[in-house]
Amino acid sequence: MPPQPAHLKRDANAADTESYRDSISTVDKQGKRVWVYPKKSHGKFTNWRSRFGYALLALLFAGPFIKIGGEPLLMINLVERRFVFFGQSFWPQDFLIFVVGFITFIVFVALFTVAFGRLFCGWACPQTVFMDQVFRRIEYTIEGDWKQRQALDKGPLTGDKIRKKTLKHVLFFGISFLIGNTFLAYIIGSDALLHIVRDPSSKHMVGLIAMTVFSGVFYANFAFFREQACTTVCPYGRLQGVLLDRKSIVIAYDHVRGEPRGLVRKGEERSASGKGDCIDCKACVHECPTGIDIRNGTQLECVNCTACIDACDHMMDSVGLPRGLVRYASEDEIAEKKPFVFNTRLKAYSGVLVVLVGVLIALITLRSDTDSTLLRAQGMLFQTRPDGRISNLYYLKVLNKSDHPLPVRFELLEPAGELEFVGKALDIEPGALAQSELFVLLSPAELSGMKTQVTIGVYSGDKLLEKVSTAFVGPMKRIGT
Ligand code: SF4
Ligand code: SF4
Repeated sequence: MPPQPAHLKRDANAADTESYRDSISTVDKQGKRVWVYPKKSHGKFTNWRSRFGYALLALLFAGPFIKIGGEPLLMINLVERRFVFFGQSFWPQDFLIFVVGFITFIVFVALFTVAFGRLFCGWACPQTVFMDQVFRRIEYTIEGDWKQRQALDKGPLTGDKIRKKTLKHVLFFGISFLIGNTFLAYIIGSDALLHIVRDPSSKHMVGLIAMTVFSGVFYANFAFFREQACTTVCPYGRLQGVLLDRKSIVIAYDHVRGEPRGLVRKGEERSASGKGDCIDCKACVHECPTGIDIRNGTQLECVNCTACIDACDHMMDSVGLPRGLVRYASEDEIAEKKPFVFNTRLKAYSGVLVVLVGVLIALITLRSDTDSTLLRAQGMLFQTRPDGRISNLYYLKVLNKSDHPLPVRFELLEPAGELEFVGKALDIEPGALAQSELFVLLSPAELSGMKTQVTIGVYSGDKLLEKVSTAFVGPMKRIGT
């Protein structure tokens, strides 16, 4: 975490100013959960986040059903070990692409976080988007704003309470069921999901169990676990401590302008009162879904949801002070009024990122539809044919990495010679591995010693998909020389 803002060290309760870092705000001293009742948020950022969130939700739910060339936009089929990104299939044999892709992703995350803090958490993380745009909205509609919800939870078990709680949890489970099914569609594909839905349940017991488990996990998460996912479980949240520095853009309280905080007195002239602009109304605290006080500085629990910006702007408007006491800013910007700087660390991360993206694009562009291996039969050296030619026996394995059946044929490219197949021509299903045995026949004049490199082209129709090379073993000396 960036160093402590100076105002906290000046605070009269200096001994207590760091104590909030010893525990999370949603767990009390006895280790019991403190339920957060965030006040309903309104304002410019809340509106923009809602629009963006709904667009993301539409994309998320439509994702498994959007097809490119017959393949889904995104599918991570762990069962069949097939992965589809933007309609292109990848297999475990594309390991190098996965490794480079993963490293690129990590560098991107690090770079993005160093520069913009937890912007992703507030605007695009599914946990925040679902909580803010779906589940909390249902809760506000059925149970009311924070005070009504607090009263309802503390109050006796009346018919009204049972009705509200039942309705809320039925809706929560229904939406969790939808999310669970969508999640499953990203794993097994939308077609397989529709089969599970339409066919008799006895035919898809595993699929139905997966559906139930996913729905239950999502329901438990959104109905009960909530902000704990961000504050105690999310690994990205834990990374903030090492990635953020004083130059990272976060949602920050302008302590230079705000301190010393103090309530507004009737008829008080703020500028002449010696107080800062923070009127200590705690609106920012009441609207925080993770239950923290942004005025304590950047904290791991902050998911950058912007609710405190809107809350504070509203209060500034109401007392006639300028907006932006809580805003997107870096600690340096606030403390020293420095503008955002593209520092050495950002430059280094960007350079590495550009190189990795280049390698990744090259790997994907140059990726072949097949992955072939050519192995000489073990325990056999070479055979001399009656016509004087030398032959070696090989096993040729071809994996079809495309998403369609692939008829393949082979040609000897180097040196001049002949291929003699033991089996029939290969027609390989998507993701399947086919094997063929073949002899390579070379005339002695083509041999360049005991070992000669041979190259075989793997074709589909007239298209050369791949070249595979290996050694051809011949006699010590050229025959006839
Ligand atoms: S401190 Fe502000 S931005 Fe951070 S979680 Fe709370 S309300 Fe959201
Ligand atoms: S909402 Fe603004 S003025 Fe009110 S306590 Fe928070 S920072 Fe201070």
